[in-house]
Amino acid sequence: MSGLIAKFSKNIIFPLQALREKSGMTHRLAEFEKSQYLSAAEIEELRFNRVKSLLIHAYENCPFYSRRFDKIGFDPNKFQSLDDIKAIPALTKEDIQNHKDNLRAKNYGDDMIVPDKTGGSTGRPLNFYMNRSRVFSRDAAALRHDRWTGWDIGDKSAYMWGHRGDVIGEASFKSKLRNILLDRRVVLDTSSITAEKLKLFKERLRKFKPKIYIAYANSMYLFARYLKETGSADHHRPQAIITSAELLGPEQRELIESVFGCKVFDRYGSRETSIIASECERHSGLHICAEALYLEFIKEGEQVEPGEPGKIIITDLLNYGMPFIRYQIEDVGTPVNEICSCGRGLPLMKMAGGRMTDFLVTSDGKIISGASLTIYLIANAPGVAQAQIIQETKDEIILRIVKDDRFGDESYRFFELEIPRFFGPAMKYDFEFVEEIPLESSGKYRFSISKIDPAEMF
Ligand SMILES: [Zn+2]
Repeated sequence: MSGLIAKFSKNIIFPLQALREKSGMTHRLAEFEKSQYLSAAEIEELRFNRVKSLLIHAYENCPFYSRRFDKIGFDPNKFQSLDDIKAIPALTKEDIQNHKDNLRAKNYGDDMIVPDKTGGSTGRPLNFYMNRSRVFSRDAAALRHDRWTGWDIGDKSAYMWGHRGDVIGEASFKSKLRNILLDRRVVLDTSSITAEKLKLFKERLRKFKPKIYIAYANSMYLFARYLKETGSADHHRPQAIITSAELLGPEQRELIESVFGCKVFDRYGSRETSIIASECERHSGLHICAEALYLEFIKEGEQVEPGEPGKIIITDLLNYGMPFIRYQIEDVGTPVNEICSCGRGLPLMKMAGGRMTDFLVTSDGKIISGASLTIYLIANAPGVAQAQIIQETKDEIILRIVKDDRFGDESYRFFELEIPRFFGPAMKYDFEFVEEIPLESSGKYRFSISKIDPAEMF
């Protein structure tokens, strides 16, 4: 029966939904499926053409880039090799925080643009835009990478994610129906985990039997630890597990793979640019989603040698609504100069630094994913340029904050309202205002730091 629904969903519902939304999803997915097997040289050519078109578009339509290019005498019409892009200064998060409206393309009206926001990989809240069709190309790219695990459209999946609404929409009849017929997902909300909820989730998975799990890396690790430490060997085992949203350590991967008896497919993505890179079935690095993104790995202004870590700089080739040109995402990665044995021409990389988060806990037994908090708490905080949360005891947290000039009464009211929503009414909190929050050694950024092991809560 479940197999029949999967086929019905893939072959009937998915194309119908694409038609209804005018998303071009079936066509977009087919394109991504095809282009992944282009040769490295063909992908390079595609990227060059897309970078050049984007630069010309940004110069003509975005005041921020017109000024920036003029200032350095950069003429996008004379762009001759991908290397030329290095002349353009990197786009920082502060640039986006301060010049959001001038970064928007004038020829994209409000009805062609979708606003979004993020807490970012280093706790800096960011509001940004993308053009409507970019929403669909992001979804299509993610579907392609999901399919590398053996999952296909219509197959069931389970999510350990920061917000239920993000995964299966609002609690309306329409989104429930869509979930039954098309998406076929169950969700554990990682912004509020308890031992009881982990137990119920385990039972739900046994009945629902999803093909894959998709999870924040640290949340998946916590679930694996829970199953191991409570001796629940009778749990469901998926075919594959996708981890995302925070760095996955080797010991975490090892435990997850041994508890669930399947491979982990690690993934690197961001809210601003969607899926950036992910592992294929060969697990020899992460394939960059190169048709949509141009990545540079930079050290002291120059591209690093393969195998050496560098700061990741991203140019989104398909977001014409608000071009991200040489966006400094504040993560660190290593380019890999090898062709993967899977036959895909998409270049490979490895993660070297990025977001790490500890879980935070409350005295009444709740566990809160740090990754959830960057996405759903800090992204919305007014006047916060960057933030970090520190917990030493179960009843108090410290909010370490770099203010921007909008920080004021509204910011205090925001935390007064939101802290109890995430942590319950008993949690005490205090502010510590600082000039900057430095990265740890090797480019890692720990958004939340806790002295308490969440496994104490099982
Ligand atoms: Zn591969």
